[in-house]
Amino acid sequence: LRLDRLLRRKRADDRLRASVQDGLRLAVIDPLTGLYNRRYAAARLAAIAEGAAAEGGEFAVVVVDLDRFKSVNDQHGHAAGDAVLVEVARRLTANLREGDLLARIGGEEFLIALPGSTACEAQLVAERLCHAIEETPFRLASGLGLSITVSIGVAVSVPRTDTRATIDAVVEAADLALLEAKGAGRNQVTLRQSAA
Ligand code: GH3
Ligand code: MG
Ligand code: MG
Repeated sequence: LRLDRLLRRKRADDRLRASVQDGLRLAVIDPLTGLYNRRYAAARLAAIAEGAAAEGGEFAVVVVDLDRFKSVNDQHGHAAGDAVLVEVARRLTANLREGDLLARIGGEEFLIALPGSTACEAQLVAERLCHAIEETPFRLASGLGLSITVSIGVAVSVPRTDTRATIDAVVEAADLALLEAKGAGRNQVTLRQSAA
């Protein structure tokens, strides 16, 4: 009888632990793409910035935004747009390394953090990502092949008084770089120095 009770208790404990783990996972994962969400990205960025501060190193932030994505939805429907987002996520993942952070931080916007990366290295990574999206048309469920491009902004961290300020500055610089890439005609990478 006692063993039976212990086993039942153990099963209940296991179920609770699993559901807590599921809950934590759901809180940080974007259900459409399976990528991390903005909440997780903020926490990981903080950890990456702490690490860089401790080692006196730097890190790069890369912001990726789909070009003219509204017209994909308008012309092919929202479901096709969703499928494009899933495939973009897959291609970005395939072209990054294990320790890199990749998150979907907005509807059609992704953030990448590259720990220990210089501006030059980050620019190369961004060029590779840009190319990986452009080079092969996206196959829709209808069979139609769709040309998709992205614009990318890159910036490298400059140490500030605290990590929060460091992160804000580098993300802002990457966002500005993204705007420049859009303004310069899209489907390209722009690097911007995070003002010291
Ligand atoms: P730009 O090149 O300047 O970035 O143009 P854009 O059309 O990509 O940018 P805009 O901000 O005008 O439109 C973004 C579109 O992204 C509008 C919105 O409907 C679409 N979008 C955002 N989230 C999702 C999503 O989860 N699924 C789908 N299918 N579309 C989404
Ligand atoms: Mg956008
Ligand atoms: Mg866009």
